[in-house]
Amino acid sequence: MAPKVSVESRQSVAIVGTGMAGLITAYILRNDSRGRFDVEVFEKQNHLSLDSASLTVSNKSGTKQRVDLPMRAFASGFYDNLKRMYDYFGVEYGSQRFVYPFSTISESSCEKKRNIRTHYIHSSHMHKFPPLKPEGSSWFTWLIEALYLGICYLWIVACSTFIKPIEANSSRPSETFRQYAARIRLPQYFLKHYYLPIMSAVTTCPHNALLNFPAIDIVDYQAKTFRKPHYTVMGGVHKVQDKLSKDLKVHFSSAATKIENVGTRVQLTWKNDGTGAIESKLFDHVIMAVTPDVVRAIFPPLRSVLGIIPTETVPAYVHRDFDRLPECSKVVDGEIESKPGLPPSERIHLCSNSSSTEFTHEHLSSVIITTSPILPIDPTKIEHSVFFTRTLRTPISRKVTNEIFESPVSYSDAVDSKQWRNGDGNVWLVGSWCWDGMVLLEGCIASALRIADKLDVEVPWAS
Ligand SMILES: Cc1cc2nc3c(=O)[nH]c(=O)nc-3n(C[C@H](O)[C@H](O)[C@H](O)COP(=O)(O)OP(=O)(O)OC[C@H]3O[C@@H](n4cnc5c(N)ncnc54)[C@H](O)[C@@H]3O)c2cc1C
Repeated sequence: MAPKVSVESRQSVAIVGTGMAGLITAYILRNDSRGRFDVEVFEKQNHLSLDSASLTVSNKSGTKQRVDLPMRAFASGFYDNLKRMYDYFGVEYGSQRFVYPFSTISESSCEKKRNIRTHYIHSSHMHKFPPLKPEGSSWFTWLIEALYLGICYLWIVACSTFIKPIEANSSRPSETFRQYAARIRLPQYFLKHYYLPIMSAVTTCPHNALLNFPAIDIVDYQAKTFRKPHYTVMGGVHKVQDKLSKDLKVHFSSAATKIENVGTRVQLTWKNDGTGAIESKLFDHVIMAVTPDVVRAIFPPLRSVLGIIPTETVPAYVHRDFDRLPECSKVVDGEIESKPGLPPSERIHLCSNSSSTEFTHEHLSSVIITTSPILPIDPTKIEHSVFFTRTLRTPISRKVTNEIFESPVSYSDAVDSKQWRNGDGNVWLVGSWCWDGMVLLEGCIASALRIADKLDVEVPWAS
């Protein structure tokens, strides 16, 4: 149904950023059933950002295939709003089977693969049972490892169901995952060699940063996704981008430099990267759909407080350096023939040293995607490289975030209680980090729904 237009009550809205959060917010406001909003979007790149790092490659038979970067996987249980939106748009998504070889990189050398030892090969939802045995592992060691892993996994599942993380109170912040793991006596070997590598695949951050996450984030994610299928968008996330951005008015190559209140309105200043010109315009609302480090730079009221939210640069490379794959790749190759009617499993190698994990995804299109590499990649075999900004979480950054979004936790630390709140002066925040949970796509949509609620806009897929 076309929105009803009531010219007198129209409000101008600027949205900064065209990732998932910016595009969803723009879609919801543009489709307000009372037609109240004129939306303009500002993006510093010269194209929409949601799909900007993805690429099309030819597979072995010459067929073109879309490779999403990042993968933007999602799961039932945790991503209910995202799934509802995809269903509304008719975006097809499918459950992909993965095989995860867990390997350890020896600290003694940085030579490519000589010092990688694969200690276990896990298949998603145990679709390969019994589990594959890594080459070089004896039947006895493999059996003991599988049993140990099974027991530890059941333990963490039971704990995440029955032992809740300790929340903040007036004298301390909420429990970290490090403290929680110690409290439930999670075995160190399991933590180091399995749990941190697999969870850092979700959070793409070093192990130490992950141990400093609020325990509630990890426990909640674990409990909600237990035994739930994981999906990816079939044909690529550009299908979502196309639906969300149809007829959208976007100022490309326009990097916002300042947002400030002027009287009852909000002034957005941006730099046009094409002409070099600095331009300004007044809006009724400005919505920032950018990472917290960018918010700090362009919005003075949050400059100091958002310094508490850690961000990290995450490199990802698309390449064809097959020499650096662990030996187990060839063994696994023969074992994971596709079942009739199902796509073949894809391998994601989790190779860890004592402080971090690198993720190497052998994509079906025959390219390799390595995120956060520890070992060198032959530069002549790199076809594409991207640097993402990842927002991390700590109990203190959680407290700051919750205070901005009006659900304060009670621990009172150095943070000013009179700090700026979301919506003050008609300036708003959306993004994967703008909610009380893991910094993932569901946060983009949850924060966009919050704005819809505040501005009394009906969300098309909610009805
Ligand atoms: C390696 C990696 C893998 C991931 N995998 C998954 C996954 O599998 N599943 C999942 O749910 N989540 C995943 N995530 C997290 C998720 O993809 C992101 O958190 C999410 O895409 C962030 O969306 P956003 O709209 O909040 O912000 P962003 O995507 O960061 O968008 C911000 C936009 O603002 C633009 N911008 C920045 N500064 C300015 C400025 N001054 N003026 C104008 N525009 C500006 C940027 O160009 C960008 O377009 C992954 C993240 C990483 C890094």
